This record gives sequence, structure tokens and C-alpha cells, in this order.
Amino acid sequence: MIDLTHFQGKNIAVLGLGKSGFATAKALELSRVDYVAWDDNSNTRAKATAYGLTLEDLTNYDFKGTDYLVLSPGISHTLPTPHPIVVRAKQAGIEIINDVFLFKEAMKGKDIIAITGTNGKSTTTALIYHVLQARLTCQMGGNIGTALMELNSECDVTVAELSSYQTEITPNLNATGVVWLNITPDHIDRHGDIDGYIAAKARIFETELSAGIAVICIDDAHSQKIYEAVKNMGKWTVIPVSTKQILEGGVCIVDGDIFDKGVNVGTMHEAQRLKGTHNHQNAACAYAIARYIYSIQPQNILSQFQRFDGLAHRQFHVARIGNVDYINDSKATNAEATEKALQSYENIYWLAGGVAKDGGLLPLKPYLSTVQKVYLYGECALDYKMFLDGQSVTCEIFLNLEDAFQKAHTGAQEININATVLLSPAAASFDQYPNFEKRGEHFEECIKKTDV
Ligand code: ADP
Repeated sequence: MIDLTHFQGKNIAVLGLGKSGFATAKALELSRVDYVAWDDNSNTRAKATAYGLTLEDLTNYDFKGTDYLVLSPGISHTLPTPHPIVVRAKQAGIEIINDVFLFKEAMKGKDIIAITGTNGKSTTTALIYHVLQARLTCQMGGNIGTALMELNSECDVTVAELSSYQTEITPNLNATGVVWLNITPDHIDRHGDIDGYIAAKARIFETELSAGIAVICIDDAHSQKIYEAVKNMGKWTVIPVSTKQILEGGVCIVDGDIFDKGVNVGTMHEAQRLKGTHNHQNAACAYAIARYIYSIQPQNILSQFQRFDGLAHRQFHVARIGNVDYINDSKATNAEATEKALQSYENIYWLAGGVAKDGGLLPLKPYLSTVQKVYLYGECALDYKMFLDGQSVTCEIFLNLEDAFQKAHTGAQEININATVLLSPAAASFDQYPNFEKRGEHFEECIKKTDV
């Protein structure tokens, strides 16, 4: 648990008691800081009361004397509509903060390696942690696994995955290292437009220090602009990363070979769980952090890449039955993530659907040639079918994932060539599942139930 005792004397209100908010309230309680906490959901409140947290209905709360309102990432403070409690807190002049702010204040003098980007954050965070923990004591958390407030105050190095919702309200993170992976439009409802989304993420570079290392992948135009902007800040040692070109001054993985400042230092061919250009992007960023902040030798970094197990629900190979591979890519909640899966396999029996993101399947137009048939389900099924019909891709709508799976499974088993049954929904899960993990687990249960 993070020690927040130096916030004693402050009055803190916590809104939202999901994973990060609950951990925040717990840390405040254990650190004996004055706080009140609230969540609109009565079940969540009951859990908090059972734990012994101090609850107070913030709806009509008098914020006089409150120093901070700690906001959970799932709660909007601006777009599409701000939460009414946030509106009142702002009117009362209360500073809106989050657990990242409390964390960085509590961990002053210790290393924070912060990872952001549209896709690949969790994989990269886990990979950096996997490489570093072989050589030094470190911990991992944030958007992945453990909430920041549940981590250990004593640990010298924290690898933290941060989303745009988190970076947006974190001033001066003062990170030791930042990884910026890529940008494609996402979460536009919360940030207004792509510029708002990028600006929210770019706050990750705010620093009062001047010795940090910024690892920025420049493979897309938005990230290239960020690269120039961060260089111009003059505070960061900026290392460009690419999977498209060899950069004399950066780290690149091109066609599976790793180049460090133009010198070939090894290959990714033996790293079984880091296949595909997207994973090479993640690996190149991890390499740059390990090499340039912690001086880990290239061969040691590479041997950790080879030992990396990959993360569940991200192009995870679940089984091979007959000639068919079953891949769980439930985490692919947008078209850009699914694009990587469609490029990685052949003869794909593709399961897709849920709650569509902006742009739907449009970005996948150039990548449909590997698809045999699409098995659609969920809220966006009809929209996706209209698009796929227009592209002359065979598809069918099902009531749910289980029915879609049965048909895809039978179809793939019937042909006598290597094939792939791929769950890569290109949509969020919350019309039919609480989260993408449950969706992926359901897919894996369907595979277990097959009797082929
Ligand atoms: P995030 O935490 O940013 O959502 P994940 O590592 O959980 O990223 O991966 C989410 C999805 O994106 C998976 O489907 C994965 O295969 C795909 N993916 C992973 N790395 C990248 C990348 N660098 N670029 C694009 N897609 C990626």
C-alpha cells in the first residue's frame, strides 16, 4: 500500500470506488488522512462500508475546506457531460486530481516509467517489467493489474501503464522514463476530438526535472509531431523508435532485426510471444528503456524477450485442434488492434462485434483478404454486416458469441487446410460482458467445450 501520510492535514474527497478509487480510499484510511468517499452505485458503496471506509454522499456535499477531489478514470469531468458532483466541486474551486497525482507525490525521488499510447500499453508495460525485474527490484501497476495505490511505497522503480483519462488530470508527472507508442483516434467522446485526445496523453511529458528519457515511436504522423514537440521542450533525452525505418539515433526493429543507433544487436525471431510488427514496436520501446535508463546489455534484454509469455486476451494462442488455431484477442476493442490480428493469421474465421468505436470497421478495409468468413454478434452486428457486405466479405449475424463460435468452429474444422478461429471483436464488450476479460474467458470456455 502506498504511504500517503504526508497528505495528513489535507481534506480529500474521493469520487468513484472502482479498482483505483477503492485502493485510494484504502490508502488514505490506512495513512490516517481525512477523507470522504462516494460512489453512485449502491453495491459498490456496500462493499466500501463493509471494508470500513468513510462514505459521505457527495451529491450535495459542502466542499468548503476540501483540498482535492480524487476522480476515478471512468468518471467524466468535462465531456461528454461532466459528472454533477465534479461540476459542484469545480464551482467550489476544488482541485480535481487522481491516484496518479497522489502516487507521484508519494514516490518523489523514485523512478516512474510511464507508458502511454492508443494500443500496446499493457503489453509494453508487462514487457518492460519482465525485462527489468530480471536485473533489479521493480513493480508494475496502473491500468494494468494492480492499482497504483496498492503498490509498495518502498520500491525504487515503478512501471506504470497510464491511459489518457489518467494523464489528462496529472500535472507534472516528473517521470524518469516515458514510452509513447502510437496514436489513432480513440475515446473521442471524452476528449472531444483527436487533438483533445493527443493533448490529454501528451501531459505525460510534463516535468519540472530535466534528465528523463522519452522513448517515442514515430511510425504515425501524430506521434512524429509529438516527437518534435518533446525534443523542442529541451527537457528530455528523446529516443526515437521505429518499425519502418532504421534510425541512426534511435532504436528500431525492422523485419525482425533489432538496430540500436544503426547497429544490428540481434533478432526477434526467437521471441515467440512477440510476433508481428505491433509487438516489435512494443519490444523496441522496452529495449530503449532497459538499455538507456538501466544500462542492461542487449543480449540480456533479448533473452528476456524470449522468455516473455505474452498477455492473456491479446492474440493469445489458446489451442490447436486439428489444423485450426484458436486465438483469443478479446482485448482488441478497436479496428487498429484488430488490424494487427488480421495481418498475423491466414484463413481466418473471425468473430467480431460488441459496441463499435468511432469509424467502425472502416480502417480494416485493406486487411480483409485473409478472412474466410465473419461471425458477427452484439450491438454493432448489423452495421458491421452492412460494411462487410459492401466489401464482398461473407458474414452472418448471431445472437451471441457462443452461437457465433459454434458456427466458426464447425466452418474452420470442415476445411482441410490450416485455419484460424479468431476472436478479435474490433468493439467494446459492455453490451454483453462486464469487461473484455470476461468476453475472452467465455471464448476460451467455448473452445474447451468442443468435442472435436
Ligand atoms: P492497450 O493496453 O493499449 O489496450 P494491449 O497491449 O492490451 O494494449 O493490446 C491491445 C490490443 O492491441 C491487442 O489486440 C494487441 O494485439 C494489439 N496491440 C498490441 N500492441 C500493439 C501496437 N503496438 N500497435 C497496435 N496494436 C497493438
